[in-house]
Amino acid sequence: MKLKNKKINKLNFLYNAFISNRYPISLTHFITERCNARCPHCFVDFKTKKDELILENIEKIASTSGNCLKNVALTGGEPFLRDDIFEIAYIWYKNSTTDSIVIPTNGSMPDKIENFLKSASKYNLPLFFFFSYDFIGEKHSDYRGIKDLHNKVFESYKIVKSYGNKFNATFQITLSPSNYESAFETYEYIRDILQVKNINCPLIRGDNAKFLNENLKNNLIKTYEKIQKQINLDYNKGIFNEYKNNSLTKIALNVKNKILWKYVLETFANNKYISPCKAGSLTGIIYSNGDVFPCELLNQKMGNLSDFDFNFLNLWKSLNALNVKKNISKSKCFCTYECSWFLNIFSYYRYYPEIFYYIMKNIFKK
Ligand code: SF4
Ligand code: SF4
Repeated sequence: MKLKNKKINKLNFLYNAFISNRYPISLTHFITERCNARCPHCFVDFKTKKDELILENIEKIASTSGNCLKNVALTGGEPFLRDDIFEIAYIWYKNSTTDSIVIPTNGSMPDKIENFLKSASKYNLPLFFFFSYDFIGEKHSDYRGIKDLHNKVFESYKIVKSYGNKFNATFQITLSPSNYESAFETYEYIRDILQVKNINCPLIRGDNAKFLNENLKNNLIKTYEKIQKQINLDYNKGIFNEYKNNSLTKIALNVKNKILWKYVLETFANNKYISPCKAGSLTGIIYSNGDVFPCELLNQKMGNLSDFDFNFLNLWKSLNALNVKKNISKSKCFCTYECSWFLNIFSYYRYYPEIFYYIMKNIFKK
């Protein structure tokens, strides 16, 4: 397999991340907007049928995604509903500079995951799975509307872990008004009974996070704080060992745990802007039909890739895309979307003293 040179020029990368913000570092590709679940908190529009990009065009997009791309998320809908998901992952890995492929999934199709991994392991694809999990046992299946989903998701997790540490897997509880009362118990269940070695708990976002009454909001805040505190404790105790100690990923995760959650919570609690958002600059969304947006929440289209012969950077640098980027900055857009917050924190000088403090603390702790 001839790969695109993965060695990103460090100076170019740093100049882009901290100063020019011209090229994406992280992209989310909705490879399909179909889904076999119907989660009450979902914001995907299932009523409008959308075309899906063909492999030939995905290859053109990946090849023109710039020389700073480090991460691609293949999401949906449910990404395993696409039979060619391996080909898509392989195309991104082969034709772009990315060295991590994230796959958020509801885990309902263990057979497909098994087949996918048979191929992926031959090519050493750097995969990071995120399995959604909202409630304990059958309540989870009922909530998402898929029979026996609770067992299927755990089976899918075990398939990924049957490859040892070759591929990474995280369970993710999205904290929402529906599950906050039992979320801490669900967290303990995943950690102690299912013995999953990495758990994440983002806050619900989008319209579902707006218009909450004060009481509900306060309860969500308390639960979020309680779980994040426990995640930090469990990391420090070494219970979560999905990533090697002192690996860059683990250090980044630890720093993220300490800083990102603090600012996400502050934004949610006070409903106000804290610092610039890098969506549309360092991160963006490609929808299944080739539409490009800065994020999943802001309804400002940057363009459709078919109008640019599937050349990603030509769209990203177009006048319309630059205007969207300017609007985000001018309007001081804010939200609790953790994927954007991750880059916002790592690319903004105001956070460097805090990042430096936590990195040192992490390296020198016993
Ligand atoms: S599994 Fe994901 S895409 Fe499917 S309905 Fe649930 S939240 Fe939406
Ligand atoms: S602040 Fe949130 S809604 Fe606004 S551009 Fe950034 S990610 Fe999108």
